[in-house]
Amino acid sequence: MALKSSDEYVERLKKMKPNVYAHGRKIGRDDPILELPINTLKFTFEAVNDPELKDLLITTSHLTGETINRFTSLNLSIEDLYTQQEMKRKCCHRVGGCTQRCMATDTLNAIGVVSKEIDEDKGTHYHDNFLEFLKYYQANDLVGSTAMTDVKGNRSARPSQQKDPDMYLRVVEKNSKGIIVRGAKNHITMGPYVDEHLVVPTRNMTEKEGDWALSFALPADAEGIKIISRVVTPRPRIDLRAPYNTYGVSDSVVVFDDVFVPWDRVFMCGEWEFAGRLALTFAGFHRHSYCGCKPAVTDIILGASALVADYSGIEKTSHVADELTELMIIGELVYASGIAAAAKAKKTASGIYTPEFLYSNTGRYLAGTKIYHEYDVLVSIAGGLPSTIPPEEDWLNPETGPFLEKYMARKPGVSAENLHRIFRFISDYSCSAMGGWAQYAGVHGGGSPVMEKIGIRSEYDLESKKRIAKYLAGIEDEE
Ligand SMILES: Cc1cc2nc3c(=O)[nH]c(=O)nc-3n(C[C@H](O)[C@H](O)[C@H](O)COP(=O)(O)OP(=O)(O)OC[C@H]3O[C@@H](n4cnc5c(N)ncnc54)[C@H](O)[C@@H]3O)c2cc1C
Repeated sequence: MALKSSDEYVERLKKMKPNVYAHGRKIGRDDPILELPINTLKFTFEAVNDPELKDLLITTSHLTGETINRFTSLNLSIEDLYTQQEMKRKCCHRVGGCTQRCMATDTLNAIGVVSKEIDEDKGTHYHDNFLEFLKYYQANDLVGSTAMTDVKGNRSARPSQQKDPDMYLRVVEKNSKGIIVRGAKNHITMGPYVDEHLVVPTRNMTEKEGDWALSFALPADAEGIKIISRVVTPRPRIDLRAPYNTYGVSDSVVVFDDVFVPWDRVFMCGEWEFAGRLALTFAGFHRHSYCGCKPAVTDIILGASALVADYSGIEKTSHVADELTELMIIGELVYASGIAAAAKAKKTASGIYTPEFLYSNTGRYLAGTKIYHEYDVLVSIAGGLPSTIPPEEDWLNPETGPFLEKYMARKPGVSAENLHRIFRFISDYSCSAMGGWAQYAGVHGGGSPVMEKIGIRSEYDLESKKRIAKYLAGIEDEE
């Protein structure tokens, strides 16, 4: 049994060397500022004991036969991809949004696929390195980051054209024991509370960009790594405690200041032809994950919109019904794209199934471009109160609380406390630092919508569509 408890996870974080910086301070991983973000990860350990979730979460390692957490597993069948998607939707309901841990699952799968392809082409041994690492990762129920997005400098310049070559993470030295890398990865979710950083390239490379074609895994507290973090949490509650307010997130700039990586932790080093393949394979898996987690966000927005409509007595008005139906369509279409991506998955040389890129991209694109519209619906139905609701202290104050309870009343039969709860939840969800974070994540996480459009175009068989039009128009085949 390779399942670890959330306490074991927290204990091992405490033992790591301090290299986390947050909000102007160098902090230990037991700093209270990280409590809520770490709670989100703890949930992924505790969910294996949850009667409603355990069958989705618990699986078997194909390497060792041991029971493992699905967040550490490979997708070795179409069924695995369906289960991943379902697991993400259900888990996201519980933490009110991103469970964060899926990113590493997607990265492991992508490295598994591409390391095998590199070995077959180049005679290297990256896939053996990967499998050994995966055994260790599964046996210890580890948490990994996805350190993909480089800081990128001038967006119009390729890695080799940057004024400062460190704008993309690169190898600066190789020796018999390993490699030394320099650069920084940006926006790295979970930076302060992962066991390992899983590093993959962010884009394709050209022949002269082999130094930037890099993939490896390294303990998050390895010498030379600095994790500069921003913590985002829902507003604290005093009396009105609610599950949503117990989870948070942190994203980091992860600096690799001449960091040594031993060869057995390297999965790509110089094979520039495969950098784009690895980046896109990760994107394919991760956008498939979004087809599970984004419908969960839609479910939350839909549920909150419908509930506040009920409480306000506007549930039967036609514009409310129409807007709620739109949310249903968005959520289920995104989810359906994920199912299609799984149904059309391809088995790769590694044995891992990759979701059909076209459908994981269309699902992710739809989710990314509709996210502000979804909040628009919530804000429109909720009215202005989530942005102006008096602080909880004023509800607790005996001089003002009774007035608030009296004058916030809506449909008869709805308790003052439940009204207070739904409006404060919507305020936290849509009109707060956490709400703003989720909106940006909804657009850019896993790749901005324009990147999905590029992905869709790049593999789309447009010629076949022209042939249909020619046939229907009676146009003979042209030379
Ligand atoms: C909340 C959140 C969490 C994230 N977590 C992670 C994580 O854990 N790991 C990780 O690796 N990444 C993570 N990301 C990064 C995410 O994948 C990127 O934000 C996304 O790929 C966009 O990159 P960018 O933010 O650097 O924006 P930019 O690349 O600056 O993009 C801004 C705009 O410029 C356009 N643009 C950029 N370059 C070009 C070009 N050459 N030609 C034309 N247009 C261009 C883009 O299309 C976009 O419209 C996260 C992002 C967010 C918001």
